Amino acid sequence: MQIAISGGKGGTGKSTVATNLAVALRKIGVKLTLADLDVEAPNDHILLGVELANEKPVNQFMPRFDYSKCTKCRKCAEVCEEHAIVTLRDGTPFLMPTLCSGCRACEIVCPVPGAIQEAFRTIGHTYVTPTPYGFTLVTGKLKEGEERSMPLVVAAKRRAEEVREGLLMVDTAAGTGNTVSKAIESSKLLIAVTEPTPLGIHDTELILELGRLMGIPTWVVVNRADLGEKEKVYELARKYGAEVVAEIPYSENIVRSYVEGKPIVLTDYPEAEIFTGLAKRVAEFLGGGE
Ligand code: SF4
Ligand code: SF4
Repeated sequence: MQIAISGGKGGTGKSTVATNLAVALRKIGVKLTLADLDVEAPNDHILLGVELANEKPVNQFMPRFDYSKCTKCRKCAEVCEEHAIVTLRDGTPFLMPTLCSGCRACEIVCPVPGAIQEAFRTIGHTYVTPTPYGFTLVTGKLKEGEERSMPLVVAAKRRAEEVREGLLMVDTAAGTGNTVSKAIESSKLLIAVTEPTPLGIHDTELILELGRLMGIPTWVVVNRADLGEKEKVYELARKYGAEVVAEIPYSENIVRSYVEGKPIVLTDYPEAEIFTGLAKRVAEFLGGGE
């Protein structure tokens, strides 16, 4: 089974919820693998206080032009929907690698055998990191300067599937873009982390709408619940048939545990109870197991 932790807006505490929930679930006996699919800014490993390990490159096709064969017909540039190929006045093609999606359309339309050769570039890495909490963390990390996160999400999710033990928990990027829906795909439960600010509430509606469209039961966790109009979050949740399952107050203890790289659920701080309670709810939802 798979569940997803998401948030319409960045900085809502999504990763804090994902990591603490993973630790709390493991503590009550649920076997799991956590996948950090926020590939542009993965930080679950920082919150868990572990160094990323077992690096594997994610390579993507890109064309390499053999100018001794190229007839400068421009067909490759014309077919490239990403505008990744520019041509000089005489038709000589050049590639702008960061725009290339690796779709191979240029290779297919090129009428001259060998004028486009196969090359690859590394657009990011995946990692499989053991944690001291009894579960494995799988991470996708896009290389700086790269713009396409979808191949990384797909590669990291695939690697997580390969090594998974029991429940797969995915921590998605913020927002509701196609990489988020790819990460959420196949989940039996979506937990949307939000905060009760006007922007937070607006973005929560988008994620609730995404859950509804994908037919996934959705729960809401309100972070920094004491710093805004949380009634509006409840109202919105009711509108979408979603349940608000936890409120997390603004807490310096959470910030402290973040700095220490120690999940708050393992401390004696009172906020630990919130995550333990949430883990029990999730375990019940899963039927007491994986
Ligand atoms: S389609 Fe092939 S031959 Fe034509 S410009 Fe591109 S690389 Fe050269
Ligand atoms: S592989 Fe696709 S995106 Fe990349 S240059 Fe060729 S046509 Fe454009």
